[in-house]
Amino acid sequence: MKKASGIPSVAFVILALLICTGFGSETRGVNNGQRYERLVVRNVLVIDGKGTPARGPVDVILQGNRIQSVRAARQEGDAYSEEPHVLDGTGLYLLPGLINLHAHIHDNRGGVPIPFEYLYKLWLACGITAIRDVGSNYEKTIGERKKSQDGAIAAPRIFLYMRAGGRTPEEARKSVQLIKKQGGDGVKIFGMDRDIMEAILDEAHRLELRVSHHVGVEETDARDDAAFGTTSIEHWYGVPDAALKGSQNFPSWYNYSDESDRFRYAGRLWREADPKKLEAVLESMVENGVHWCPTFVIYEANRDLLRAQNQPWFKDCLHPVLEKYFEPNPAHHGSYFWNWTTEDEVFWRENYKIWMKAVRAFSDMGGVVGCGEDAGYIYMLYGFSLIRELELHQEAGFHPIDVIQNATGNNARILGMEDRLGRIRQGYFADLILVDGNPLKNLKYLYPTGVEEMKEGQMVHRGGVQWTIKDGFVYHAPTLLEDVKKIVEGARSSE
Ligand SMILES: [Zn+2]
Repeated sequence: MKKASGIPSVAFVILALLICTGFGSETRGVNNGQRYERLVVRNVLVIDGKGTPARGPVDVILQGNRIQSVRAARQEGDAYSEEPHVLDGTGLYLLPGLINLHAHIHDNRGGVPIPFEYLYKLWLACGITAIRDVGSNYEKTIGERKKSQDGAIAAPRIFLYMRAGGRTPEEARKSVQLIKKQGGDGVKIFGMDRDIMEAILDEAHRLELRVSHHVGVEETDARDDAAFGTTSIEHWYGVPDAALKGSQNFPSWYNYSDESDRFRYAGRLWREADPKKLEAVLESMVENGVHWCPTFVIYEANRDLLRAQNQPWFKDCLHPVLEKYFEPNPAHHGSYFWNWTTEDEVFWRENYKIWMKAVRAFSDMGGVVGCGEDAGYIYMLYGFSLIRELELHQEAGFHPIDVIQNATGNNARILGMEDRLGRIRQGYFADLILVDGNPLKNLKYLYPTGVEEMKEGQMVHRGGVQWTIKDGFVYHAPTLLEDVKKIVEGARSSE
């Protein structure tokens, strides 16, 4: 038995368990933050990460950090009476842990420190068992990745994609070699001239590193990603750009460095894409195995600023440092809401419609769509934003079964981990979540804050991830959320 740090008292965990009435009656010998040689998850309905409907009930046996077996549930009351560690899944849904494909492990916002523990516990409380970091303080993140691997901290698995670049192709190749040497799991690129990008992709393929491309308004676009073999396009710029006739119709005074204008005119981009050209671009992405992580959620403030500014979890879970960072300020990336107009939102709503249709079409052609949040910017809170991202995938036309697949099996595939992660299958890593409610019926069950339901004339509060299991370590998700609230409370009172 291995212990992870940051564990509240056993008494508190027992209290928290008692609060979860109505299920878990057979749960025993399970404490927050511990891993067991053998753990039985009993009588649970499973939604796997491979695009299949719910099935069960099943019993899932975990051995250390692996899934040892998945089998039909034994219904005899005393079936597991000899087992010391049992999680009763009656009435719950078991899913592969969610993977957040676009994350940043921020150690500060606007130069003011923010604790890693705050981010990690938000992610785990939202059912996220793995993240792909695509930009952070690498030295620190390498250390954090190790602590997470060792089970020394309560944190998701960390895959680190480090930024490559250079002024010449030679420098660019060297930067990729350095990433390999430092132990990066992959390469992140951004703002690419064509010769530099070609060199980076060639070197990355040689060293067997995956490449994620945050395409901006730059020389290269999705056609280059297809030609050079990028693993995944982040966000969406670069896709409509590749389908324009010439460049976007920017006004003469437009300056890309002004973020307010940059995001305003980004909202007028998809409408300029030629549908025929766009189809060809999407086809060539599919043919060349370029995956797509759209991060719908991170731009949602652009189509509805008031919604973004008034998310209910801000009340208890928004760290004051992050709150300050979100305020309009040209010095902070993504805090560009000055002179923002109703008209801008109207354009963005249309922008979303065309964008979502393109992502849906890409998937229909056989493209692999992933799921990430990019939180810590633009009013998006870590963890909660990934759940919102799932809702936006449904809005884009994905069936909830496919939405779950995007966030689990597909993300694992994009990471090159599809033989170990993203599924509930014998031999796979024990990265699992138990949810109070069927997310195929309502994705909102995944929000830690839950939902209100009417049951026999009574209002009942339910939902939320109850247990998050990462690498065999079992976390009581509501307890983690309480920890988050305490961190926020402490930070607010010391201001
Ligand atoms: Zn990002």
